[in-house]
Amino acid sequence: MASLKKVRQVLPRPARFNMVGDGFRVYNYFPNGYPIREQFSPFLMLDFNPEHDFGPSARPRGVDVHPHKGFETVTIAYKGHVAHHDSTGNSGVIHPGDVQWMTAGDGILHKEYHETEFSKTGGPFEMVQLWVNLPAKFKSVPAGYQSIQSGDMGVYKLPGEKGEVRVIAGEMNGVKGPAKTHTPIYVYDMRLNSGAEVNWHVPELFNSALLSIEGEGEVNGSHFKPHDFVFFTNEGETLQLKAKSECTLLFLAGEPIHEPIAQYGPFVMNSMQEIHKAIEEFNSGKFGHLD
Ligand code: MN
Repeated sequence: MASLKKVRQVLPRPARFNMVGDGFRVYNYFPNGYPIREQFSPFLMLDFNPEHDFGPSARPRGVDVHPHKGFETVTIAYKGHVAHHDSTGNSGVIHPGDVQWMTAGDGILHKEYHETEFSKTGGPFEMVQLWVNLPAKFKSVPAGYQSIQSGDMGVYKLPGEKGEVRVIAGEMNGVKGPAKTHTPIYVYDMRLNSGAEVNWHVPELFNSALLSIEGEGEVNGSHFKPHDFVFFTNEGETLQLKAKSECTLLFLAGEPIHEPIAQYGPFVMNSMQEIHKAIEEFNSGKFGHLD
């Protein structure tokens, strides 16, 4: 019989934000804010830019050309619009409710910035970027991305118009998400009204956590307030959540990858030898070209 998953810790938002380029005002929950990366595989990094208005700008704010290799970046837009271009020749805009699931795989160059028209006016901007590790056997898959539109999400509707859970990846109570993942992962964008109650299950061995983008409530007996990160143990399978205000919540769970992690900035491999090789490949132009 399924039992309630235990809450390990309720971690408040880290004290300080940092700027990623000049367009992302992020709180890094891990690995810098809290040293939980080793316990939270396959997730490597979580940056949260809570709602912020950067104001109008003639030149789009953001991050200029940079590489990635050996993992995936998942960008979730809540408010505002994020444009991207990459060295495979692809580009696009991530609108509110959309997700870009990029597989850096064997190496990519890209740039990420506020969409041009949005930059001109400014306005509320809110987003999350997650880094998800790839196991050794998939670190060299060709680079690419899934552009997942808001309307593509699997939707689990709560009875009585109490809100919905938009399943990005994995499944919830039989509703499946559109993202193709290299290891089993659940990612939900939960939009709940005050008083909503919802239960779901994840395999006991999956690592899991809940981030409050907005709103407060109770999950498995622990209270959370806006921007709290509720980190669960691997004991139990059931999640039992009650929203005490209107909530936007990000739920993450995944099967751990039991492999060593070697990281140098935007390269995540299994050994330092592979990191040195990645740096050489990048320097020799193997990741392609992007202006
Ligand atoms: Mn990037």
